Amino acid sequence: MPVFLRKLMIPSAVTEISDLQHILDSLDAVVYVSDVETHELLFMNKYALKNIGGVNQFDDVKGKRCFEVLQKGQKKPCDFCTNPLLPKSGDTYLWEFKNTRNNCWYQCRDRLIRWHDGRQVRLEVAADITERKTVEEELREAQRELKVLAEVDSLTQLYNRRAFFMYADKLRKSLPNSSSLGLMILDLDYFKDINDSYGHEAGDTLLAAIGQKLLSFSGDGTVVGRMGGEEFAIAFHETQKREKEDFANLVYKAVSNVKALYFKDTLQCTTSIGVSSQPVSTPLRNIMRQADDALYRAKSAGRSQIKMS
Ligand code: GH3
Ligand code: MG
Ligand code: MG
Repeated sequence: MPVFLRKLMIPSAVTEISDLQHILDSLDAVVYVSDVETHELLFMNKYALKNIGGVNQFDDVKGKRCFEVLQKGQKKPCDFCTNPLLPKSGDTYLWEFKNTRNNCWYQCRDRLIRWHDGRQVRLEVAADITERKTVEEELREAQRELKVLAEVDSLTQLYNRRAFFMYADKLRKSLPNSSSLGLMILDLDYFKDINDSYGHEAGDTLLAAIGQKLLSFSGDGTVVGRMGGEEFAIAFHETQKREKEDFANLVYKAVSNVKALYFKDTLQCTTSIGVSSQPVSTPLRNIMRQADDALYRAKSAGRSQIKMS
C-alpha cells in the first residue's frame, strides 16, 4: 500500500482505505503521482504498473523517477514533460500522447495536488485512446486517398481536368500582378491510329508514358493536367528564364521523344501544341480559349507543331 494511503489510515477507516486502493487498482486507466521537482514516483495504480511499467507491484519501481518507469530508454526528464504547464490553480491540463514504452495513445488529465507532506505533486489520470486514434488515422488516410482519387487521373498520375482548373487558377492568383500566366494545350496527333493499329491497351501504355514525362515538368510554378482523352494542359509562370516559346519547344521535344514499349512494339507519337500567355489578371478560361484556338491552328496546319496565340 502506498505511503500516502497508509499515513491517512486511522483504525476505524482501515476498510475504507483498502477499498480506495482497490478502486484505484480496478480502474482501467493509468493513475500515477510523481514529485514535480525530483520526478520521483509516489504512486502508480495496478493498471499503470502492468500496462506501462511492466511490473506487478509498486515496490518494483519505488524510488525510481517517472521518466525511467513510464517512458522507454529515458535517462532525464522528458522534453514533453507537462509539469511546467500544470495550472497553479489546480485545474486540469488535458493532452494526448503516444507512450514511448507501449506505443499506446493516452488522453492524459494532469493536475497539481497537495501531497500529505505539504508539497505539490503531479497527479495524472490517463485513459487509453489508441482505438480512437487508430480510427482517426485511418479516416485521415482514407480522406487523403479520396482526395487523390478525386484529383488525380489514374492512368497518367496527372491532375484531372477539374483539379487542373483549380490548381492552375490558384497558380494564376498567386503570381505577382505584373507577371504573365502561360498556358499550353497539347493534343496528341493521330492517336486513334495507335489504338486502331495496336489496340486500346497499347494506346494506354503510350498515354501513361507521356503522362509520366509531362509530370516531370510539374512543380514550382507549373501545373500539369490531363484534360481528357489524349489532351493535356500545362499552366506556367512565364518568366524571362522560362519564355513560352522555349518552354513549348522543350515540352514538344520531350513528348515526341517518348517511346513506350508494348510487348515487341515500340510506340511513339507527335503532338500539336497551342500556347497562350496573358497577364495574370486575365480570367483563366480566356487564356484557355486562346490556347485552344492556337491548338486548332496547329492541327489545321498539318499537326506536329506549335502555334502561339
Ligand atoms: P488528331 O488529334 O491528330 O486530330 O487525331 P486523333 O486521332 O488523336 O484525334 P481523335 O479525336 O480523332 O481521336 C482521339 C483518340 O484518342 C481516339 C480515342 O480512342 C483515343 N483515346 C482517348 N482517350 C483514350 C484513352 O484513355 N486510352 C486510349 N488508349 N485511347 C484514348
Ligand atoms: Mg483530342
Ligand atoms: Mg489527338
